[in-house]
Amino acid sequence: MADECLICEKHAGRGELLAPMVWADESVVVTHRGADPTGYGPLGYLFVETRRHVESWDAMEPDEVAIVAHTAWAAARALRAELPVEHVFTAIVGRRVPHFHQHVFARFRGTPSEVDWLESPLVAPERSASEIAEFATRLSRYFT
Ligand SMILES: [Zn+2]
Repeated sequence: MADECLICEKHAGRGELLAPMVWADESVVVTHRGADPTGYGPLGYLFVETRRHVESWDAMEPDEVAIVAHTAWAAARALRAELPVEHVFTAIVGRRVPHFHQHVFARFRGTPSEVDWLESPLVAPERSASEIAEFATRLSRYFT
């Protein structure tokens, strides 16, 4: 664990990024974005993260790349199976927290065309923290 890494803290079950767990194994962790301070958050926004502290996609070992790619694929399929999505986007950015994390998020059917792809979560249906946790548990069956 790297000192003061928010994602390592999250994997240890604490810290400001703590979020509902979807699935995890020895090398990858999948969580659903949690509720914000209002108690609500957008539905259909997952993070695929390496359990090991590695800063970027190109710094990963080949076996990590394979499991992360497979897991992101499973995450997209899970969202499409459970939600009325128009599209499932994925992005690797990593400008704020230097621990590999891949965003996988839904754009719901009916999202106005003028809403940019990156802003899709801003207009996604919102759910309470407990509803998000329940949904995260439901998604776990799509990962093996
Ligand atoms: Zn870390």
